[in-house]
Amino acid sequence: MTNHTWHVGELKITKLFEQIFSLPAVKLYPEVTEEQLQHFADGMTRESPLAMSVHSWLVESPQGRFLIDTATGNGKSRPFSPMFDQLNSPWMDNFLATGLRPEDIDYVLHTHLHTDHVGWNTRWDGERWVATFPNARWVIPEGEIAWYQTPESVPRAIIFADSVQPLIEAGKVATITDNGGEYLPGIHFLPTHGHSISHMSIAFASAGQIALFTGDVMHSKLQVSHPELASVFCRDKTAAHHARTWLFDYAIKHQATLFTVHFSGSAVGQLSPAGEGAIWTEM
Ligand SMILES: [Zn+2]
Ligand SMILES: [Zn+2]
Repeated sequence: MTNHTWHVGELKITKLFEQIFSLPAVKLYPEVTEEQLQHFADGMTRESPLAMSVHSWLVESPQGRFLIDTATGNGKSRPFSPMFDQLNSPWMDNFLATGLRPEDIDYVLHTHLHTDHVGWNTRWDGERWVATFPNARWVIPEGEIAWYQTPESVPRAIIFADSVQPLIEAGKVATITDNGGEYLPGIHFLPTHGHSISHMSIAFASAGQIALFTGDVMHSKLQVSHPELASVFCRDKTAAHHARTWLFDYAIKHQATLFTVHFSGSAVGQLSPAGEGAIWTEM
């Protein structure tokens, strides 16, 4: 597969594709109505498939080379999720096709720590899980790490054990407080909590333009026109709805280019206002 790239200011941004699968609309959005689906696409029903992509983003900038989340990874045991269990995807081939090597990554920034966002953090060296990007510094919202110390996280403990803990033990992790803020000049973590406990979106400002990495604030274009719809994966539906409308306002005000994670198509676009939601213009 050829990687697709975009330019925002001085940033070169590349989509690193992992896999695409589909779910019936009603599985992803249990509360979705036929009326909302009809409004979204003619003939669509609650049983119609919605395509979901999993990918991550590579940002090459004068400040360094960044990965924004690291997809699901290969060879990880995920017994709770057939879509993600023991994957053997071409993600690393796609990364190497950019001409970079794992040693070239300076930073890995995380929106949150779900299984489909952290997997390539580590690889199996024959004895243990080690950092895939040996020279990188990982930056993680501190509440996302703290959640994995709570009883609620126990069914997902394996994710932290194989994809985050080895990096902490190797001294490679920095944290961002739940209030977010500027990590490097022009690179801001924006609190968009709700989908997960301390979820962040990440904005890169460059030459007067903004690239906005949304994380899992939304999962498909259906939520652009209907931000009130919560996905089955969202922990706090009210907070997630608030985060969506807040992020839409931010994106429209700054004319940001959005880089989403689970949208089908390019997954890149801009928003313009429309009633309670927004209109998506794909780029
Ligand atoms: Zn998520
Ligand atoms: Zn996700």
